[in-house]
Amino acid sequence: MSEDSAAGARPDGDDKAAREAELLALADRYLLKNYRPARMIMRSGRGCELIDTRGRRYLDFCAGVAVCCLGHNHPGLNAALAEQAARVMHVSNYFYNEQNVLLAAELCQATGFERAFFCNSGAEANEVLFKVARRYHYEAGAPERQRIFAFERAFHGRTMGALALTGNPNYQKGFGAPLAGVEHFPFGDLEAVAAAMAADVAAVVVEPIQGEGGVFVAPDGFLSGLRALCDHHGALLLLDEVQTGMGRTGTLLAAERWGVRADAVALAKGLGGGFPVGAVLFDGKLAGALPPGAHGSTFGGNPLACAAARTVLRYLLHEGLIEQARERGQQLSQGLSRLAARYPKLCVGERGVGLLRALVLANGLVARELLPLARHHGLLLTAAGPTGLRFTPPLIVSAADIDEALRRADAVLTDVAAGR
Ligand code: PLP
Repeated sequence: MSEDSAAGARPDGDDKAAREAELLALADRYLLKNYRPARMIMRSGRGCELIDTRGRRYLDFCAGVAVCCLGHNHPGLNAALAEQAARVMHVSNYFYNEQNVLLAAELCQATGFERAFFCNSGAEANEVLFKVARRYHYEAGAPERQRIFAFERAFHGRTMGALALTGNPNYQKGFGAPLAGVEHFPFGDLEAVAAAMAADVAAVVVEPIQGEGGVFVAPDGFLSGLRALCDHHGALLLLDEVQTGMGRTGTLLAAERWGVRADAVALAKGLGGGFPVGAVLFDGKLAGALPPGAHGSTFGGNPLACAAARTVLRYLLHEGLIEQARERGQQLSQGLSRLAARYPKLCVGERGVGLLRALVLANGLVARELLPLARHHGLLLTAAGPTGLRFTPPLIVSAADIDEALRRADAVLTDVAAGR
């Protein structure tokens, strides 16, 4: 069935262009201007493909920014959502519901953590990391432990607590003084952290791989070194795996790669496969750190969101998607390295783990400025940092899709080299 017949209509090209213009005019008139979206309107998708209102098809290596791990329009995820919607959609945290109880158990059993809290986004999950960092010590009789260590180039979200952890002046501008007590260190600089570590430090918050910052992978020994420092000084090690978690890097959690266990980990993005849901998983010692009334969320643990996350987890664990992320990641890595070698004036190399990768641009090229050209070649990418052209396809991506994306990226670089 074609895209249009599926919708019961078959508008011609002019109608489609008119429809797009109409929607863009509404967007211009009514949506807040806090984003810089491409001038196109996405309408549907299937697998690794997105289709806009004009019927143009794109190979989606953005995947909702590392969210749509099962691709678009996944029959299993659709069925789980429809089934749950037909049962009950929302009940609040005055009651348990089947889905949040089962998701908590399944996530804890899969990761070895002991408690789960549910929210709706990555920033919210990181707010919990911020709050639990201090409240844990407060409950333990050490309210003076309030310093939180984070890292330069980190991205933890846009709410005021997450923004304080993010520490990027560009994101903080105009919002007044950031929450006090957060100190930033160069990512990977264990010695700098060790020199500053003291008995009044509550926690270290870190991404195992800095995603938005440019796909910088923690150097070997960094996370385990932080773990040892935190243990020695009684501070908590809190990981932001909002982007790296849920199989994206070829293990369920990225920190598994280094054999490091955090005291708590923030998840979102891939967790719901496109349905908004965030979570924080806690070590048992934090089980009482947020007593009743200390934190909450109306929608957190929503049955629909939890049904989505349970489905994603089932596919990751039982349908080989994590192994696939490793294998396809290898293929993508090799292909991007070949591209970098082929265009040495435009690229300095590639970096990343699993299906979280960046082609690193050279010679003053700005990744964001290449995105329209990539779209012109039917490839959806994102920028990570100024020079990272980021590839985060769905984890269901096929070998053929990766080859095709590499061909299109090659065409983009050919155009850039030719000054087009
Ligand atoms: N943490 C990390 C590592 C992220 O990559 C992001 C989003 O890109 C966030 C937190 C914020 O997540 P959200 O946009 O869902 O609030």
